[in-house]
Amino acid sequence: MAEPHWSRQLIFAVAGNPAVTRFVTRYGMRLGASRFVAGEDLASALDVARRLNGEGFPLAVQFLGEHVTRAEAAAEAVEEYLRLIDALQERGIDAYVSIKPSQMGLEVDEELAYANCRRILDRAVAAGRFVRIEMEDSPYTEKTLRLYRRLRETYDSGQVGVVLQAYLYRSARDLDELADLQPNIRFVKGAYNEPPSVAYPSKADVDRNFRELVQRHLERGHYAAIATHDDRLIEELLDFIERKGIGRDRFEFQMLYGIRPQLQRQMRDRGYTMRVYIPYGRDWYGYFVRRLAERPANVGFVLRSLLRG
Ligand SMILES: Cc1cc2nc3c(=O)[nH]c(=O)nc-3n(C[C@H](O)[C@H](O)[C@H](O)COP(=O)(O)OP(=O)(O)OC[C@H]3O[C@@H](n4cnc5c(N)ncnc54)[C@H](O)[C@@H]3O)c2cc1C
Repeated sequence: MAEPHWSRQLIFAVAGNPAVTRFVTRYGMRLGASRFVAGEDLASALDVARRLNGEGFPLAVQFLGEHVTRAEAAAEAVEEYLRLIDALQERGIDAYVSIKPSQMGLEVDEELAYANCRRILDRAVAAGRFVRIEMEDSPYTEKTLRLYRRLRETYDSGQVGVVLQAYLYRSARDLDELADLQPNIRFVKGAYNEPPSVAYPSKADVDRNFRELVQRHLERGHYAAIATHDDRLIEELLDFIERKGIGRDRFEFQMLYGIRPQLQRQMRDRGYTMRVYIPYGRDWYGYFVRRLAERPANVGFVLRSLLRG
């Protein structure tokens, strides 16, 4: 959101080209994806997780994958999550898992996605771990909220949470409609390429909405994961939190692996819970493209790596 809208759209458009996809998928880890992705396999992710835990950061771990179109592929993702939860448990790593509804088969069938989420949740809950259902592009918003509501019939707000995106006009209403569930919500600005018919085109509006959503949620006494690298927004929210006397057990900060690590350390050193989000797996293309689109200057890193050969 930090750059002009057109450059963000241009990156999404170029990234959709099949030749670009093939090229970046082949060379992308060397071209810069490794800056944002903890590795292509579980072992690499666990190494990064152990190191970051050692530095005082709790984690949210995501096995990369999205827009799954076959039930078998969704089942494979579930198996990987079960392995991940077991591995986190064996090693005593302080982390929860984050899952994408379309990775669980939401595009195939809502019932399938629900059953898959339940398998992961059952394993996570038995291990005392939380699961975050992420929010993807706007065609999935309604279905994802339905999925979350249904999961909440079985699991409580300390076991499963969801995400709201500040760029969507609808999020304020969604927040109000979810309030009866006392939900644990991760607030983000939103990472997808959305049209002005559903999302605020201007950064100022997105930032204002982010602030208002988090404030409203905190004032209700509900738990907020404030997921942004925007230091100004963080300070504004901290002012609010202090004025209202909101305890540190009611919120945490979250940032992505590889983005503003110095700010992450500062927040940790100030005594806040600073959770780092680490994605791993071979299906990193979509994730990488979103990181480039958020900050088109990142494309410069890629081009420079390319020139260096
Ligand atoms: C833990 C976590 C989970 C997330 N989960 C979701 C989700 O479920 N659904 C969803 O739609 N989005 C998700 N996002 C992404 C989010 O929507 C934004 O796209 C992303 O966080 C960038 O926005 P920002 O809040 O950091 O603010 P911005 O205004 O975009 O950035 C603020 C500053 O952060 C730095 N920065 C931001 N992005 C980058 C980057 N890619 N590379 C280098 N520097 C950067 C820059 O210094 C920038 O000036 C998640 C983000 C986080 C931190």
